[in-house]
Amino acid sequence: MTVQHGADTALGKRVYAVPARLAASFAGERRLLEQWVQEARRHGVASHKVVSWVRRKIGPDIIVWRCRSDGSRGCATPCVLCHRQLCKFDLRVHCSLNSQQWFSGRLTDGDAPPPVLTSGQRRQWQAFREHAATLPVTN
Ligand SMILES: [Zn+2]
Repeated sequence: MTVQHGADTALGKRVYAVPARLAASFAGERRLLEQWVQEARRHGVASHKVVSWVRRKIGPDIIVWRCRSDGSRGCATPCVLCHRQLCKFDLRVHCSLNSQQWFSGRLTDGDAPPPVLTSGQRRQWQAFREHAATLPVTN
């Protein structure tokens, strides 16, 4: 099931990155790109042509939003990993910042929202830092 918003139809060719069943996950946009990369491989696209092939298939824009359980729009700022992929594919990102505001533009733009850490990534980062703190200092 795909969530549709009337106002979004003005944006032309677009990809709904986060179907409602994935709404709890920040990883929607990265998974979507991964699926298209796999599709390119199935079509025998050479690896150095995959990015342009996928861009041609999905268009230059990607819309990312998430719905909270109460149906309102939540913050869908791409996480660090999705951020990297979206920059690699040079996509214009339209993502919800909260229930009223959207960001539209490239993530490399100066006013783009900085990448966020998901709670899982924050846990991993925390574990990494705690581990690093136990290591002997060598210099
Ligand atoms: Zn992500």
